[in-house]
Amino acid sequence: MGISDASQRFDSQTVLVVGLGKSGIASAQALRARGARVIATDEKPRAELLERIARLEAAGAAFAAPAELDAVLAQATLAVLSPGVPPSSVVATRVRTAGVPAIGEVEVAWRLCDAPMIAVTGTKGKSTTAALIAHLLRACGKDARLGGNIGEPLVNAVAGATARSWVVAELSSFQLETIDALRPRIAVMLNIEADHLDRYASIDEYARAKFRIFLNQGDGDAIVLDRDDARLRGLEDAFARADCPPARFWYTTQRAERTDAMWLRGDTICASQPGADPVAVLDRADVPLLGEHNLRNTMAAMLAALCAGCEPQELRAGVRSFSGLPHRLQRVAEIDGVLYVDDSKATNPSAAVAALRAFHAPVVLIAGGREKQTDFAGLGVAIREHARSAIAIGEAAPAIARIAGEVPVQRAASMEEAVDRAHRTAQPGDVVLLAPACASFDMFHDAEDRGRQFARAVEMLAQGTRA
Ligand code: ADP
Repeated sequence: MGISDASQRFDSQTVLVVGLGKSGIASAQALRARGARVIATDEKPRAELLERIARLEAAGAAFAAPAELDAVLAQATLAVLSPGVPPSSVVATRVRTAGVPAIGEVEVAWRLCDAPMIAVTGTKGKSTTAALIAHLLRACGKDARLGGNIGEPLVNAVAGATARSWVVAELSSFQLETIDALRPRIAVMLNIEADHLDRYASIDEYARAKFRIFLNQGDGDAIVLDRDDARLRGLEDAFARADCPPARFWYTTQRAERTDAMWLRGDTICASQPGADPVAVLDRADVPLLGEHNLRNTMAAMLAALCAGCEPQELRAGVRSFSGLPHRLQRVAEIDGVLYVDDSKATNPSAAVAALRAFHAPVVLIAGGREKQTDFAGLGVAIREHARSAIAIGEAAPAIARIAGEVPVQRAASMEEAVDRAHRTAQPGDVVLLAPACASFDMFHDAEDRGRQFARAVEMLAQGTRA
């Protein structure tokens, strides 16, 4: 029996949950509710885990320290690995060596899910697109549940979903590593850029993890993908060679090909669906999100919604009423004619480049943080094209200074100092943009914390200028 068959019924399983983060706890609770015996482990010392262990125990699950793992693995019939646990880690290797099949939390969710799934992946734009898809489906009167990498564990999001609902799942490459039977009715692949090269040996290995979203798809399923992404365009031949390939729905903001499902005619976004004449869906001015990249994200979301049965004429109102997500090109304030924008979620250079390109006005860029072994060359070009000045923060500050060329760079030791320097540098009509191109962990708790500190500093500035 394959692991899919063996573990469909969780009540006969003894499950080891590895990692007591949000999704680990949610898996433990969901598996307990289905009658599994659950033992969870985490490498952190027990003293740091007391509150989480209490939640586990309240659900009827037990905690085992890493030293007790051999005994647990001797009984376990299934392991659930958290996305933060790489396959090469000691604990994942021990699970493999013990011959225990391993899946992730999103695979558990899939096995508990009665609804068709729309899965969204890509290097950047996943949360925005997934949230917009759920918003569009709801605007069209459908029941949509949103979860996965966006924050709410997918096992929680699928609870209560019926065959008439849609589950919209944001899936990271880490989560896709540990799927087994998960089969999206609609898979959305936004883009592939260099990222997470601290975990993957190469961009090809990273792309392979992402492409697992198609692993179980076949006849009757759909794929939505970006024609303008060279790596994705290269997939067309592989799909054509497959036995029963899913239908492909390509979108482009460049020159459209006959086979594209969504494209621009002037400023109008047009769509064609199988067996129907092309239709004008909306005007690009109807898209409230800033930047060309968000136009692409919107096209991807609209195609997914069309594949899920929404009507083209229903989409405009839904797109117009979507306010975007916090820390993604979010307008924070306008002070003395300068717009302050929080794009703290621009954690890699390509997102920061996309953010810089979203503005015609000169930009004072706040960037830097922890580097993830990515290439800053493209960012240097965008800084030289769009930035009046840059304020460099964190460990990557010297690298930002190196790539900025003629553009003046100042260093700042805190977000408050960075905002203050930006304020002194910006001229009326400029944009002060936080788009760090880096991870946040050298100075902040996470990207949200970084964005909140930016907003707080801007607020203080506003108060200071009003006083
Ligand atoms: P993810 O969930 O994939 O991290 P988000 O929607 O949270 O994506 O956006 C993260 C960051 O990436 C934001 O700073 C946003 O402005 C930028 N971004 C969003 N979509 C794209 C895209 N298609 N290409 C490049 N950058 C993007």
